[in-house]
Amino acid sequence: MIKGIAASSGIAIAKAYKLVMPDLTVTKTTIEDVEKEIACYEEAMTKTAKDLEMIKEAASKNLSAEEAAVFDAHALVLSDPEMKSQVEDKIKNEKINAAAALDEVANTFIAMFESMDDDYFRERAADIKDVSRRLLAALLGKQLPNPALIDEEVVIIADDLTPSDTAQLNKNLVRGFATNIGGRTSHSAIMARSLEIPAVVACKTITSEVNDNDMIILDGSEGLVIINPSDEEITTYEKKRDDYVAYREELKKLKDEKTVTTDGHHVELVANIGSPKDIEGVLENGGEGVGLYRTEFLYMESAELPTEEEQFNAYKAVLEGINGPVVVRTLDIGGDKEIAAIDLPKEMNPFLGVRAIRLCFQREDIFRTQLRALLRASVYGDLRIMFPMIATLQEFRQAKALLLEEKEKLTNEGVTVSPNIQVGIMIEIPAAAVLADQFAKEVDFFSIGTNDLIQYTFAADRMSSSISYLYQPFNPSILRLVKNVIDAAHKEGKWVGMCGEMAGEAMAAPLLLGLGLDEFSMSATSVLGQRKLIRSLSKVEMEKLASEALQKGTMEEVVELVKGATEL
Ligand code: PEP
Ligand code: MG
Repeated sequence: MIKGIAASSGIAIAKAYKLVMPDLTVTKTTIEDVEKEIACYEEAMTKTAKDLEMIKEAASKNLSAEEAAVFDAHALVLSDPEMKSQVEDKIKNEKINAAAALDEVANTFIAMFESMDDDYFRERAADIKDVSRRLLAALLGKQLPNPALIDEEVVIIADDLTPSDTAQLNKNLVRGFATNIGGRTSHSAIMARSLEIPAVVACKTITSEVNDNDMIILDGSEGLVIINPSDEEITTYEKKRDDYVAYREELKKLKDEKTVTTDGHHVELVANIGSPKDIEGVLENGGEGVGLYRTEFLYMESAELPTEEEQFNAYKAVLEGINGPVVVRTLDIGGDKEIAAIDLPKEMNPFLGVRAIRLCFQREDIFRTQLRALLRASVYGDLRIMFPMIATLQEFRQAKALLLEEKEKLTNEGVTVSPNIQVGIMIEIPAAAVLADQFAKEVDFFSIGTNDLIQYTFAADRMSSSISYLYQPFNPSILRLVKNVIDAAHKEGKWVGMCGEMAGEAMAAPLLLGLGLDEFSMSATSVLGQRKLIRSLSKVEMEKLASEALQKGTMEEVVELVKGATEL
């Protein structure tokens, strides 16, 4: 049995599918038989072409035409005569093995495309990387994992899953996943919750302990993975899985109820989404709106940047599909989120570097396109625009000025833009939390992003499992920052939400209610549990609880206090 961090609730029982990249290190050797080496290269090309065709066919069943089109781009790269002839020349002239020749040629092409100004060519670099990896694997006789080819129920075992890996998982076949690294607020964990896939992260050595096709029980609520369980364990966990499903069904009765405390105080429970596909989950789970639409996933779906029209359609779909407020966050790329279409500079500390609004200021073209799409979509619902990673008032003013410029341009073009768009910021950098009183004069709302606020306050990387004890949402230091933000906003008559994972945690609900939070935004699957809980609490009592908590010294003391005062 392996213990990791419980990242997404539920039980999965299925065979293991290892999503692990084989070692593709190339050793350069001198060869005698040039013809034979060229024949090997041609064979690898044929195998890769077949693989790509097969993957494309399988992917077209699970992915949209647009998502599957990336495999066409790869086939095109593969058939490019220029690359082939350069590899063959190298083999002939330098008498080196095909793998080394390919590696050198591919790297030259990648470096050349990556250095170009044009987005189109930079995107091609990502395609070349992918295709040359496939060719190398074929030449080295290694098997690459192909998640698009999964055709039975599996539990994925991986070192880590990138957000774009996670976005491509077929929810009907992938019953769960377990990874070596990650934390509760890493984006793979967040995605797992929104897809309702049970997940356990930070299992440290799981990729070396599990073999393909091992039977796996994954308990995403307790953070446990059992490898090749006994029949008895399977029976026990099948019952647990059924009980969990029954509990979820029972909660569904609260779907259309309001979230009102025993003394009549109403709060709004809304959901975090990553794509228009998530609307269904929001509606099924009784979300009253969207408190965070992470638009970056739109940018991860293909190797190219989404056009204004594609973005407009996605935003419009969400605004039309949700009967309530929709808070759309502008692009937050960087940190653990990369996209093929933007070549981010390699930095020592990507979470502290060119991320989110900082990147948008460097790439105004990308930012303005998104703002235009949002403004055009605004007439289809109650749109609220939110800027991520704001550290200074100047940054907010600059972002808002760009928004107003695009608005004016659209109006001059005769396009109607809603006059009621609220414009707010995420509070996820301590500097902004501390200066909330000044920000509150200029913004329409705040949404507290505790995933980052906690990592930046404790100076503890949210991806690092070995210091995960520093993810302390109930530490009085965080509660004081939250209080400061809420009080500052309310003084100016503005509302405050929270869209970090803390908003969906049961233990946080009494405290946040007591501190006066107006809107709780969480994975859709957490909404009903929080609704049930908040409906059993008294606001006045929770205010007392919160003021006591603010005077405590440690997170443990706060947790004890909450447990003593509630049934948690
Ligand atoms: C946060 O930081 O709390 C947040 C909601 O944003 P993200 O998790 O996407 O960084
Ligand atoms: Mg954040």
